[in-house]
Amino acid sequence: MIRAQGPVSVAEYMGRAAEAYYARQHPFGTTGDFITAPDISQMFGEMIAAWLVDLWLQMGRPEAVRLVELGPGMGTLSADIMRTCKAWPAFRDGARLHLVETSARLRERQAEALAGINVTWHDSIADVPDDLPCFVIANEFFDALPIHQFEKIGGAWRERMVGYDDTAQRFFFTTAQGEEEAGQAFPAAPDGSIFEMSPVSLAITDDIAQRVARTGGAALFIDYGHIKPGFGDTLQALLKHAYADPLEDPGGRDITAHVDFGTLGTVAAQHATVWGAVTQGAFLTAMGIGLRAQKLCENATEERRENIMSGLRRLTAPDQMGRLFKVMAMTAKEAIIEPAGFGAADHEISNDGSG
Ligand code: SAH
Repeated sequence: MIRAQGPVSVAEYMGRAAEAYYARQHPFGTTGDFITAPDISQMFGEMIAAWLVDLWLQMGRPEAVRLVELGPGMGTLSADIMRTCKAWPAFRDGARLHLVETSARLRERQAEALAGINVTWHDSIADVPDDLPCFVIANEFFDALPIHQFEKIGGAWRERMVGYDDTAQRFFFTTAQGEEEAGQAFPAAPDGSIFEMSPVSLAITDDIAQRVARTGGAALFIDYGHIKPGFGDTLQALLKHAYADPLEDPGGRDITAHVDFGTLGTVAAQHATVWGAVTQGAFLTAMGIGLRAQKLCENATEERRENIMSGLRRLTAPDQMGRLFKVMAMTAKEAIIEPAGFGAADHEISNDGSG
């Protein structure tokens, strides 16, 4: 495509590379390229299950709800949630599980992980019926969605593009000729700065916020990223658990970017009450993951205890996933429900002070 038409935007490149990657590769776990929270420890899904059931109780135990997971990967999180919810049969029996997944290959893995559970798959959240209260969960979903990058050059913002050098046989970054009109809305920054935005992420967030407002329920986003908008190139690739060049072998390595929770929060706040973003460490600790770890350790072998405690550290320690990963939630504005895990001290984005 680049040969025929010339350089494409970073978003176009990233979108196609990610799609090819999830269609072809086996990305997850110790033998893949990266490992995510649900596969580090069952406690992650257990905390999210507790979060859901608490809200469901606050909502007066609606008979049926739609439980929607975006980008479920191997299906571990939904499987852990459904397993944990056996303790609340009224919730579990009334929960209709919807998975939003574009990769046919990963849909198969999810079906295996969720054997025996009624699941409906969708290409887009827009296809999920909105007749019932919804709970929308997204873990490491938004980081995989395409971003545009803009670079300040000679006082003007230009879109960063990806070209291909036939002689050297490699992709390279370049910039679009024309000045970016939207650049006027970008924050002031010195030459050489890179500004990122993900219109797809904003559109999906807007859709979810409207859905939450319309039907009641809540949404929970967990991802790596920042709370305050900033500058810098965050496009990255992972291959066999190591950072790799995102311009090399597109589709052969995991390609992601930091999630801009500040902007997602601003978009969501137009329709819903936004909670957080707080750090994953603060959220999971407030949800009681420490107590859960203790409980699991009580009857465990020495080896299993070490495994539980190392999972706890990886999920919550500031130098592991505890600080880089953030958690944001939304609830309907008029709903008098308060999602657990968002202590007042950690509140950094709030639309109207009601949070
Ligand atoms: N939530 C999982 C997997 C994260 S990887 C975990 O935490 O382990 C990203 C997931 O999102 C994959 O399942 C990928 O196939 C899916 N995905 C990526 N882009 C998507 C899109 N535009 N629509 C739906 N699913 C998408």
